[in-house]
Amino acid sequence: MEKPQPLVDQFQRRISYLRLSVTDRCDLRCSYCMPERMTFLPKAEVLTLEELYRMALGFVARGITKIRLTGGEPLVRRDMIELVQALGKKLGDGLEELTLTTNATQMADHAEALYAAGVRRVNISLDTLDRDAFARLTRRDQLPQVLEGIAAAQSAGLKVKINTVALKGINAQGIPDLMAWAHGRGMDLTLIEVMPLGEVEEDRFDHYLPLSEVRAALDTRFTLTPSDHRTGGPARYFDVAETGGRVGLITPLTNNFCEGCNRVRVTATGQLFPCLGGGERVDLRAALRSDDPDVALDLALDQAMKIKPLRHHFEINAPGGAPALARHMSMTGG
Ligand code: SAM
Ligand code: SF4
Repeated sequence: MEKPQPLVDQFQRRISYLRLSVTDRCDLRCSYCMPERMTFLPKAEVLTLEELYRMALGFVARGITKIRLTGGEPLVRRDMIELVQALGKKLGDGLEELTLTTNATQMADHAEALYAAGVRRVNISLDTLDRDAFARLTRRDQLPQVLEGIAAAQSAGLKVKINTVALKGINAQGIPDLMAWAHGRGMDLTLIEVMPLGEVEEDRFDHYLPLSEVRAALDTRFTLTPSDHRTGGPARYFDVAETGGRVGLITPLTNNFCEGCNRVRVTATGQLFPCLGGGERVDLRAALRSDDPDVALDLALDQAMKIKPLRHHFEINAPGGAPALARHMSMTGG
């Protein structure tokens, strides 16, 4: 049998990073991410544990070395730890890193199992340290659980990075303190501009905050110098002299970061999106549910490499306009 070929797209970018959404469900309702009455998928449409595992192995055979599990909220999926344990066995055998992005509401229950399965780093999303603001933004009063989850992750030995979406009139004022808090606990912080994905109840344009403004606010209190740190992702990093920590800025709407893109995304229903900002799509679930899943999956991955676009096509729409892309971030995972 021929050796499986690495995944290289039509622009000669080597794809080595998979973001895999394991569920579209979530226990929070962040207002920029989903409406209160979000319609979730019927279970039959979501990939089973076996399908997720088989698919992930197919990716690893084609040279994917890093898998990030996401959602929705990955830890609300009941068999999530089983999946992590199964994939953890591939670490050192093709897979180099297994991580997840989580809101940490349930991290306290799972941190030790994640570490034992081979996870070493997690991204935790936290937009504010103010309990009332957190409850308003996520529509759930769960800040204490999240803080407990962060502490549990750190004591289990997991390296934590905090991800924060910058929102005008919601958390902008608190970002310098949030950064100092994270750095004081040995956690880096990455700031993200809100992206126009999916219909939500509020008009996102009202909350769009360019990171240049956040950067200006940080500069009045801290000394930021560009860092050599790179992850192959869209963030640019800065070292912060006063805290000894690092801050990353992701500016999808104001910067182009696509040239070095090394990643693809798969939704919980097995739809592969070669670009977060594009409509291109390949149905891996159909491949996985066909008569010869492994062959069909390989062909589907080849197809994805042919249609991965050169760059994304995001723009923030005029107030009241439709989102640039109809799907929510909870679908493709972010
Ligand atoms: N539930 C997990 C969490 O919140 O970390 C994982 C999934 S969540 C969709 C992944 C990341 O996407 C989070 O950091 C969240 O803040 C971010 N996100 C969601 N909707 C977004 C949007 N419209 N623009 C920018 N970031 C968004
Ligand atoms: Fe849930 Fe994450 Fe979306 Fe918030 S950002 S609603 S935690 S999926």
